[in-house]
Amino acid sequence: MKNIAILGSSGSIGANALWVAERFPEELNVYGLSVRSNVAALAEQVARYKPKVVCIADPKAAANIGSKLGDVELVIGEEGLEKIASHPEIDIVVNAVVGFAGLRSTLAAAKSGKRIALANKESMVAGGELVNAAVSSGKAEIIPVDSEHSAIFQCLKAGNRRDIKRLILTSSGGPFRTLPKGEFSKITVKRALAHPTWNMGKKITIDSATLMNKGLEIIEAVCLFGLEPSQIDVVIHPQSTVHSMVEFIDGSIIAQLSRPDMRLPIQYALFYPERRGLEVADLDFKKTISLDFEPPDEDRFPSLRLARLTLVMGKTAPAVLNAANEDAVDAFLDEKIGFEDIFDIVERTLSEAKSLDPDNIESIIAADKIARELAAKLIERIRV
Ligand code: MG
Repeated sequence: MKNIAILGSSGSIGANALWVAERFPEELNVYGLSVRSNVAALAEQVARYKPKVVCIADPKAAANIGSKLGDVELVIGEEGLEKIASHPEIDIVVNAVVGFAGLRSTLAAAKSGKRIALANKESMVAGGELVNAAVSSGKAEIIPVDSEHSAIFQCLKAGNRRDIKRLILTSSGGPFRTLPKGEFSKITVKRALAHPTWNMGKKITIDSATLMNKGLEIIEAVCLFGLEPSQIDVVIHPQSTVHSMVEFIDGSIIAQLSRPDMRLPIQYALFYPERRGLEVADLDFKKTISLDFEPPDEDRFPSLRLARLTLVMGKTAPAVLNAANEDAVDAFLDEKIGFEDIFDIVERTLSEAKSLDPDNIESIIAADKIARELAAKLIERIRV
């Protein structure tokens, strides 16, 4: 029996992780849960899964909690998240916190030697070197939950590390894959939230529409697999059936395919190196299945270029990109700025923000803060 903690349990990954845990009650025990502020969802989950410890990350949301959660240990704020992530009774930490807020818990879990089922790509983007150092010093392991990186992790089993030529990340292309650039100014929040193949939280859905999600995934792949940026390619694959591929030096390409369903990579990260049967839909080869691939259009979607630029800039540039993007996406969701303004804000923040050495959490947090202050000014200017 493994004790698991699910950080970000009220979100889409959290719900899927609980779905998997519920099907294997002999093997997985839900020991810890955390939400940012959705206390109602947490109360329901506590009643159903009977965890031992829960966290409400936003202290304001925890203020009037009273006895709503019943008999469970409650921890609060960033320290609370770290406490669960490093809890001695917990074996596996599913980190599905949204955004930069997930970095501290990834680090805490890494230092405590946990298996980290990592869905919070932002922690790898902003603090990849720190996370890798903490994983090796803490003897922890990261099994990616991001579907592309889970696919690559699985494909890498087919060959030796030294024989890898490149990784090929697939992208659905998002809802605006075929939209002419001239119409980008008319993109509404509602249209941007209608993803063609995946059903996900708001932040990642907007990131998928701008392709910034794929940009973040390039950085995530470099950090997770220790490869050169030039070894990571992106291809648009609208069906989201091939979740990513690895090409080896002999030209052989290994791919992982399934219906787009996050329960599969979550199950894989929880049970690796084993697998468990899941009653999810199979690919039905009795019907004609088409798989299309096309190159990304970096003129309409500059996110991939911006993400690659941060890998050239080094230092805290990826953390700056991530911070500016988070705040620009929030501003877009609040209808303060337009869709294309997201690209501008990220690019201008990157060019203006000072890069720091990413040796410790303090400098990453400082870079994040500087970037958010710059982005806030740019957002205000656009808004007027
Ligand atoms: Mg992904």
